[in-house]
Amino acid sequence: MTQAYQIAIDGPSGAGKSSVAKKLAAKLNIDYIDTGAMYRAVAYKMLREGIGIEDREALKAMLENIHIDFSRGETILDDEVISEKIRTPEISKLASDASALPEVREKLVSLQRAMGESKSVVMDGRDIGTVVFPKAKYKFFLTATVKERAKRRWLELREKGLDVELDDVEADIIQRDHNDSTRALNPLRKAEDAIEIDTTAMNLEQVTQHILSYIE
Ligand code: C5P
Repeated sequence: MTQAYQIAIDGPSGAGKSSVAKKLAAKLNIDYIDTGAMYRAVAYKMLREGIGIEDREALKAMLENIHIDFSRGETILDDEVISEKIRTPEISKLASDASALPEVREKLVSLQRAMGESKSVVMDGRDIGTVVFPKAKYKFFLTATVKERAKRRWLELREKGLDVELDDVEADIIQRDHNDSTRALNPLRKAEDAIEIDTTAMNLEQVTQHILSYIE
């Protein structure tokens, strides 16, 4: 058996990380771990249990018993399939806020390491190449202009039947970029040894092939 390896894909919201990561994982026949979905799962559970961002004790207790899993392409929180339920603007905002809290990051980073240690994975997020797996065999950093990222997110939300304004989605992305790159703990940044790919003018297949050209 070949040795387990990690492919880290980081970058801001809407740069195309999850679509590319999913496709890569399928092509390479390895697991895909969506770490953004894990922060979203925490936000979902906070909302469900009525835990506010200031309620640190309740949050800590909640994190002790949280179970997040990926199976057959679904995100599972404590036995509930939440894949679609966590794709709302409300959850996006709360996930971004909660991701700045040390107890949340500590817990999720340790879960992520456990998930990717013994088997090959494609993992996407904000801090995979810098913090979760600084020794990942392959590291990529995807970017795209704010306008292009907002358009992609807007189309995605519209496809799901959510009636949102493009301007609002763009404002949301700017706000999240700011939150993600200025937080004290594990901010979004490119690992020095990551390969940066500007996906603004590329489609999914082109980005996937470009990444595969470094791997195969
Ligand atoms: O990637 P996605 O938009 O689903 O991530 C939701 C939020 O989770 C991000 O805005 C970011 O604040 C947080 N996140 C993070 N670290 C990661 C993945 C996501 O802080 N590795």
